[in-house]
Amino acid sequence: MRYVSTRGGAAPVSLSAAIATGLAPDGGLYVPETMPRVGTLPAGGYLASTAAAMLEPFFAGDPLASELEAICAEAFAHPAPRRELRIAGAHVLELFHGPTAAFKDFGARFLAACISRLRAGDPDPLTILVATSGDTGAAVGAAFHGLPGVRVAILYPDNRVSPRQAHQLGSFGGNVRALRVEGSFDDCQRLVKGAFGDPALQADVPLSSANSISLGRLLPQMAYFGHAALNAENPPMNVIVPTGNLGNAVACLWAREIGLPIGEVVFACNANDTLPEFFGGQPYRARDAVATIANAMDVGAPSNFERLRHLFGSDEAARLNGSAHAVDDATIRDVIRRHAASDGELFCPHTATAIRVFEQRRLAGDTRAWTMAATAHPAKFDTVVEPLIGREVEVPEALAAMLARDATAEPLAADHRVFAEWLRGWHSD
Ligand SMILES: *Cc1c(COP(=O)(O)O)cnc(C)c1O
Repeated sequence: MRYVSTRGGAAPVSLSAAIATGLAPDGGLYVPETMPRVGTLPAGGYLASTAAAMLEPFFAGDPLASELEAICAEAFAHPAPRRELRIAGAHVLELFHGPTAAFKDFGARFLAACISRLRAGDPDPLTILVATSGDTGAAVGAAFHGLPGVRVAILYPDNRVSPRQAHQLGSFGGNVRALRVEGSFDDCQRLVKGAFGDPALQADVPLSSANSISLGRLLPQMAYFGHAALNAENPPMNVIVPTGNLGNAVACLWAREIGLPIGEVVFACNANDTLPEFFGGQPYRARDAVATIANAMDVGAPSNFERLRHLFGSDEAARLNGSAHAVDDATIRDVIRRHAASDGELFCPHTATAIRVFEQRRLAGDTRAWTMAATAHPAKFDTVVEPLIGREVEVPEALAAMLARDATAEPLAADHRVFAEWLRGWHSD
């Protein structure tokens, strides 16, 4: 399998090359040259085995192909249970049982497993840049922490992530450093894009990305949707995905595209309504993000939109194949409060957007079964959740261990030249 740019202006490359470089040289995102189809896969079995079977055609012919099973074993070492709620026909797919308690652990660990194999024996350290609105940075930091030959620079918007998220991001040390940027998440993304668009900097400092544009994160995210769908009682499984940069949702659509029994896919957004507006029939219009309590979805210019458009070929076709709904902060709070009181379910603010979209479907007379992706553990967002429910949320063990460590982050102006100098400085350390 070879990979081409969504913008069509770059030569096809191998999977290894696409994973190593992140963004295509024409500024587009790598996608498979043709979408493979997988044959019938067995239900049951381990998530890691389903993952390896689903991803095999994507690895065909690549040097990493012989390592695929080992890579999946490392990335899918924690479970993704699908659990029924006390509402008929409603399930959650819990994606938050990894080291940093958000779904991004799967993609980050998969990417780390790939990159550490690709870099084996290379003397020049690779610096991985990751812009984060909260959860990505922690997942990538945890996945790469202590790996030889790789460094991670995490950029996050100062004062726009939860205190626990900020603590996690600064807790690594060693080969993982956190930069708190004076600006929004979009400013962080611009700094990362700016670094990749600076050939002189790249000549001095070998760079790679770990954002959700990275194929090494997107591909594994197909696996838990596929695994859940294969094991659902009445396939095809309809899914509601809390959405920001469209990484998780595009992975779900790709899983459906290669033949997994996935039905309708609905995107739940926070007050950042770029996608709801687009699916409502307006032309796509990227804009600055607004801050919400579902901060990992505070995205005004979803970076994987290019992959969505590429998958369906046109805006019209995309609109026929998906839908998106905005959920404001007051409604998110209402969902969290109401469920804690009525059925004892605790949702993180992101997951709550999907629960709300499901409830709207029910109110509109839709009686089908739906599975909502539960993207983070509520304990990660204690400052939002605890005042609403009037008690403490129990912290999962891995998260507690990370919170017990010291944390530091360096301030950074949202300025390309300042960032470039910082990177050169670290590289020559
Ligand atoms: C990143 C994140 C999202 C959004 O996922 P995308 O792939 O960016 O659409 C949703 N919820 C949580 C908890 C996240 O960390």
